[in-house]
Amino acid sequence: MKKTEKTLTPKLVKKLWIAFVLLVLLMGASFIFITGYFANKYSQETTQRVNADVAHHVIAEKFTNASPFLEDGSVNKPLFGDLMHDMMAVNQSIEVYLLDEAGNILYSVVLDPSDKHAMHKVSLAPIATFIDNKGEKFVLGDDPRNPGEQKIFSAAPYAIDNREGYIYIILAGEKFKEISNNLLGQYFAKLGIGATVLTTIFSALIGLLAIWFLTKNLRLMTRTVRKFQEGDLKARIEKPETSDIEVFAKSFNEMADTIVGNMDKMKSVDLLRRELIANVSHDLRTPLSVLKGYIETLQIKRDTLSEAEKEEYLQITHDNVDKLSNLINQLFEYSKLEAEQVVPVKEPFSITELSHDLIAKFKVIAEQKQITLELDNPEENSMVFADVSLVERALQNLIENAIKYTEASGKVTLSLTKKGESVEINITDTGTGIPVNEQPFIFDRYKQVAKNTTKHQGHGLGLAIVKKIMDLHDTTITVLSKPRQGSSFIFKLPAYQVS
Ligand code: ADP
Repeated sequence: MKKTEKTLTPKLVKKLWIAFVLLVLLMGASFIFITGYFANKYSQETTQRVNADVAHHVIAEKFTNASPFLEDGSVNKPLFGDLMHDMMAVNQSIEVYLLDEAGNILYSVVLDPSDKHAMHKVSLAPIATFIDNKGEKFVLGDDPRNPGEQKIFSAAPYAIDNREGYIYIILAGEKFKEISNNLLGQYFAKLGIGATVLTTIFSALIGLLAIWFLTKNLRLMTRTVRKFQEGDLKARIEKPETSDIEVFAKSFNEMADTIVGNMDKMKSVDLLRRELIANVSHDLRTPLSVLKGYIETLQIKRDTLSEAEKEEYLQITHDNVDKLSNLINQLFEYSKLEAEQVVPVKEPFSITELSHDLIAKFKVIAEQKQITLELDNPEENSMVFADVSLVERALQNLIENAIKYTEASGKVTLSLTKKGESVEINITDTGTGIPVNEQPFIFDRYKQVAKNTTKHQGHGLGLAIVKKIMDLHDTTITVLSKPRQGSSFIFKLPAYQVS
């Protein structure tokens, strides 16, 4: 356990570091590349602008006194030789070309006629663009010495001895390239080292801080989870809404609450179960010992007992057997409901008819206790959609209780009222009532109100069974009760519309 806790955060930190370093390297490389690209472009554009008029000057200065062509039409090579030397004395990176009007190279001192790779014709399109814009637009032209390469240039048209063409001057020739590459290499080296050192220092600082902040909440969470794991069930992440990982923080807190809640529930279930077993065994033992006592008496005193006494004893044993089987049935029923083994089979049926039947069934017991038992509004036929046998069971328990807890000359009423989409069922008695503080607990299994003081024998399972049946019908049961005035148990079932 300890090992996973220890490696959790460093692993993440390592990954964050790798991502960070990669990001810095990528940014550095792009910075150097972009700077280099624009620095080169800037230098080329400046050189081209500064030297835009060079070709023009060559024509104005050199070709006014002497023609670039000899009388036989060939190129005046000595003139070009001079021209080239003059120019190169000032700027070695310059290469001068004499072009005809189609762009064919007529002559250049730098071009070796035997060089197979050299070009003999340059594209006129960039030259036209350059001249049209008077050299103010950055444009690259063909480099005759390096086919495929583009260079900055200056160009001007000439018209001498009925011949037209262009003076085409490559401004950054081989020499420029050589010096520029050299300088660029040095510049990049310096820039690279400088940028790397500075960015490494700054990014390491920022990275440390960023990673510390990013993992702060994670460390806090890990600590809290560990505390919880070690048994501190109260450990929660404080102010989860302020956490960077709000969802996880909240989820952890909720999960911890659920675990603690479930533990409490399990504890109370366990307590109730123990109580139930203790109470059930007590309730089983009492009728059993009564039974045993009477049966033994009957066996021992078989000959001395009168017929009436024998009859009485047999009646008592019969009553106790009834009680026992009643309790066992209730227990069986309740445990089946609690284990969710009962699936309600819902169907439309007449709750009025069912109520009539139940009233008839309990009439005798009620009359024995001199209690009036009646059905309110018996004329109306109310149909509901529910499980008929489960509803019957619930009503039976409620009527039984009402009769059980009502004194002689009291009254028990079962009323059915149509309320919107449902039928409200109300079992009201004028009995002992239930103390207000006990009312919330009467539906809990095995809860009996002031068990010691009540003279009624019960097992506290009747209402728990009713509650389970209500749950299966997605409905709730309410109790309204005033001590010594009576109680009402009210619940609703969905009405069934007969079309
Ligand atoms: P029991 O088998 O003890 O009647 P129940 O679960 O049916 O168990 O009822 C739980 C407790 O609620 C009863 O012990 C009783 O104190 C109280 N109770 C239920 N119905 C009534 C009622 N109609 N009038 C007064 N008290 C009632």
